[in-house]
Amino acid sequence: MHSTERLGEPKVASAQRTIEALNPDVEVKAYEERLTSENVERILGDGWDVIVDGADNFPTRYLVNDASVWHGIPVVHGSIYRFEGQATVFNPGAGPCYRCLFPTPPPPELAPSCAEGGVLGVLPGIIGSLQANEALKLLLGIGDTLQGRLLLFDALAATFDEVTVKRDPNCPVCGEQPTITEYVDYVEFCQAVRP
Ligand SMILES: [Zn+2]
Repeated sequence: MHSTERLGEPKVASAQRTIEALNPDVEVKAYEERLTSENVERILGDGWDVIVDGADNFPTRYLVNDASVWHGIPVVHGSIYRFEGQATVFNPGAGPCYRCLFPTPPPPELAPSCAEGGVLGVLPGIIGSLQANEALKLLLGIGDTLQGRLLLFDALAATFDEVTVKRDPNCPVCGEQPTITEYVDYVEFCQAVRP
């Protein structure tokens, strides 16, 4: 998506340029703003067919999850940390959601800071390509998606593993008696980390 010469340019603008250069037929709708409880309805409640979540922070992940459940939009989830990556599909009503697995964010002292986390440079490409594959299958209605399966990639061992993930009837958002019924703005952990 991005290159060294675009350092300092908003990532959303850089991504738009790259996608349009790859395929001018794609209509890109860019939002240059951080997702919050104030704008999530306007941005995600707009009749999307699928959400590909590549967020790098917990507040965005939870906003995306809750919007997806309330609007019935499947989410292709991907995450990376150091030498490992994960991918799955959260399909509201049919499979687990993000909160079925992680009901609330970890306390800030347990979350690795962005500075000490770091990530092997090729991981976004590997996990991102897996996510694109899932998005295409969801849109085309073909194949078996990662719904109910969490795919784990270990870059150092070069292995893929898979664990079954189930819907939690006590999930605070998609469970039988939801306790979270409006958007929550969690604190952005990494803002507290001094360079
Ligand atoms: Zn759930």
